[in-house]
Formats: sequence, C-alpha cells, structure tokens
Amino acid sequence: MRTLAIIGSGPAGFYTAEAALKTFGEDVRCDIIDRLPTPYGLIRAGVAPDHQSIKAVSRRYEAVATDARVRFVGNVTIGEDVSVEELTGLYDDVVLAIGAPLDKPLGVPGSELPGVMGSAAFVGWYNGHPDFHDRVPPMAVEGAVIVGNGNVAIDCARILAKTVGELSDSDIVGDALMPDLRSGLRRVHILGRRGPHQASFTLKEVGELGELELATPLVRPEDFPPVEADAALETGQRRVVEVLRKFAAAGPDPEKRVVVQLDFFHRPLKVLGNGRVEAIEVMRTRLDADGRAVDTGETEIIPCGLVVAAIGYRTSPVPGVPYDTDAGRFANVDGLISDGLWCVGWARRGPSGTIGTNRPDGFALVERLAAVERSGGKPGPAGLDALLAGRKVKVAYFADWQKIDALEVSRARPGAPREKIATLDELRRVIAD
Ligand SMILES: Cc1cc2nc3c(=O)[nH]c(=O)nc-3n(C[C@H](O)[C@H](O)[C@H](O)COP(=O)(O)OP(=O)(O)OC[C@H]3O[C@@H](n4cnc5c(N)ncnc54)[C@H](O)[C@@H]3O)c2cc1C
Repeated sequence: MRTLAIIGSGPAGFYTAEAALKTFGEDVRCDIIDRLPTPYGLIRAGVAPDHQSIKAVSRRYEAVATDARVRFVGNVTIGEDVSVEELTGLYDDVVLAIGAPLDKPLGVPGSELPGVMGSAAFVGWYNGHPDFHDRVPPMAVEGAVIVGNGNVAIDCARILAKTVGELSDSDIVGDALMPDLRSGLRRVHILGRRGPHQASFTLKEVGELGELELATPLVRPEDFPPVEADAALETGQRRVVEVLRKFAAAGPDPEKRVVVQLDFFHRPLKVLGNGRVEAIEVMRTRLDADGRAVDTGETEIIPCGLVVAAIGYRTSPVPGVPYDTDAGRFANVDGLISDGLWCVGWARRGPSGTIGTNRPDGFALVERLAAVERSGGKPGPAGLDALLAGRKVKVAYFADWQKIDALEVSRARPGAPREKIATLDELRRVIAD
C-alpha cells in the first residue's frame, strides 16, 4: 500500500491526489492535509467571488475528496501541529502543495502606512479567508490605486468598482459589500510599469471592465505602439490589446461615476500620507530597446486612500524544508526536494499559470514519484491520527467541511450562493458541535 500525505487542498493538492488514484489504483491512501477547516485553497479564497463558474471546479475536487482512498484532514498546520520530518516518517511520500500565500512586498517608502495592503490580504478579506478577517481596508475613499498588471489587479479593481447589486449573486462576504466605499469611490487606477503589449491580462477580465454598471475604463491612446506592431503578438495577447485599443478610442463613458484608469508606464515611487495613505507618487516610465521599463524622470502624484499591491506572491517557508529565497518557493528539482519529499503547484513553480496548469503539474509529479520504489511498512494515516490525537488537534474531516458548507449555503443573502464563515473561531465552533 502506497501512502501519500499531500499538504494543501488547493488545485495542486487535489490534482496530485487524482493522479495518485489513477496511477496506484486500489493500492494507495492519500491524506490531503490543510491548515484551514475548509478545502480548495485559492478556489475558495482567491478566485473572484463574482466568477462563480470558475469556482465550480471544486465539484471535481469533491469527487476526489469523497473517494474511499482519500481523506481531507483539515485544521492541521504543517510546521505547527505536525512537522514535515514527522510526516516523512509516517508516509511513503510527502507532497507540499501549500501554494504561495504571502504577498510580495511593495518595497517603496510609505508601504507600511495604514491603507496599503497586498492583494493576498485584500482578496483574502473580501473572499472570507480567516487570516484576513481583521484586515479591513479603508472605507469611504474617493480614489484607490492597484499596483500590478495581471488579472489579480483587474479582479481587485472590478470588485471595488462594482455596485452592491452587481455583486448580489456572488459569494463576496457581507462585510465586503462596503456600501460606504461604493458610494464614494470615483477613481480606481491600475498601475503597470510597462505597456499594453506587456500586460498579463486575459481577455475575459479585460472585457469585463467595459461592462460595469457604474464604472468605465480609461486607457490613454498614446500608450500604444503603432497598430501594425500588434501583428507580432501571440493571439491571446493581441485580442487583449484590441479590447484595450477599443477602450482608448471610445474614451470613458461620461454617464458613469467611477473611472477605472489603466495607467500604463507608471511605477510607484513612494506612498504619501500622514498616519494613513493619502496619495502615491509615481514615476512615468518608457520601454528601452530591450523592452525593459526605464524611468523618464517625470513624476506624478495620484491622490488615493487605498493602495493594493498585486505584484505577486511567495510560498511561506516551512521549518526544515530548503527554500529558494530569490524565487520565493521551495528549492526543488522538477518537484523533488529530498528523498520522499516533493512539491507541486505554486509551491513548486511560483505563482504563475491558471487553475488548469496545476493538473499536468500534479500528474507529472505522480509519474516521477511512482518511479521510486518504496519498501512499504510506514504507518500512514493511522500514524497521523495517533499523533494528532496525542496532541489534541481537532481535525476537520470532509464531513465537517460539508457541515460548514451547508451552514454557509443556508445563510446566503437572497440570490447569493453562500455567506462565508470568515473567522477560524466560528469555523471551529461549527465543527465542534
Ligand atoms: C486572487 C487570485 C485570483 C485567481 N483567479 C484565478 C482564475 O480566475 N482562474 C484561474 O485559472 N486561476 C486563478 N488564480 C490562480 C489559481 O488560484 C492558482 O493557480 C491555484 O490556486 C494554485 O494552486 P495551489 O494548489 O498551488 O495553491 P493554493 O490554491 O493556494 O492552495 C494551497 C493550500 O495550502 C494550504 N496551506 C498553506 N500553508 C499550509 C500549511 N503550513 N499547512 C497546511 N496547509 C497549508 C492553504 O490553506 C491552501 O488550501 C487566481 C489566483 C489568485 C491569487
């Protein structure tokens, strides 16, 4: 019997478990361990609450979690409740699939001011991640600045710019509906140090900026290279640029109250404010011959009460596991960290790609892992149970999650799929009953 401990119940963890079931057949037991009592990682706590169709991928993971060869073992933190060393003693293979939950710091003076937050915190807050329940962003601001030119930046801008009505069928937490903020907001800036050709947006996310009830996109025509240059772009990027060009040609809709301004060729220099964010000083940039952003020397001050840095993530280090500080992930060669210890998903390759990218990643890892013969005889799940019971850790199994799920669904606002429970205390109370 092959025994696997997969740490992390996000897409990478579930695809790895799915691959293990297919590869080892009846001859495998997988424990999917997570620090939260709730499964699915960023599907629950990252993917935008108004993108419910994307979150539906969790149904596929549910089929894996309810397979008799698999257990979801929630409310157990690796590095605190149990060490990686202990797990490698208990299971044939241990796979770290803990994602990249830490924000890359903005790293400019003033970043420590209240009102500056990373996107993990901001997104985690509106998505009901218990780590960020208390990280309430400033309300009633007229201007917000999102730093970064990827889909997470667009998600943050869109969630700010939507009306309460537009979010009614989402699972955004009730606190984050923020009617105060929504009524006062006038400008959301999305800063990117390079231009439209270099932005990492996808078509759906950019297109949605043109469909908001009270918000309208603003893109400067002068930020584009000559239109002939678009021909060299790969198809997906060319379509994104076409939409951005349309926004630039149309100009912002004067009937709409909130302008979502795509400030290409801007980089943050300094956050300004007395005791809280009041503005951000930015440098205008341009591309050099190698396509890098270089400063023009021209600066600008953008008034704002909220700054969200959506500039990437890092894996959290785990005691005893080699870590690549520059890359912000575990030091590994094709997923192998050391004998019997592996990593997969964002913990392996850093925060890139879509949910689907984690599937081939999980399958490739299991292929490598299966090529290593194991002598067997390790205690596996029974050993973990004994260890956790001895430490009085209250495990949340999948049935406990189903209880949380049912309660959240029963508490949903009219039209919404659920009202999330966003504190660990309350989640633990539910599973204690
Ligand atoms: C804001 C945001 C929006 C996104 N939107 C989309 C989208 O719309 N479409 C798309 O295709 N992709 C999207 N992505 C990307 C997608 O979410 C990732 O590709 C995917 O979640 C990475 O999977 P993962 O399993 O590596 O990490 P995660 O999903 O982060 O899962 C990691 C899991 O590990 C657990 N964990 C962490 N530390 C420990 C520990 N010490 N002990 C035990 N458990 C631990 C966490 O609780 C979590 O459940 C988005 C990403 C973000 C950040």
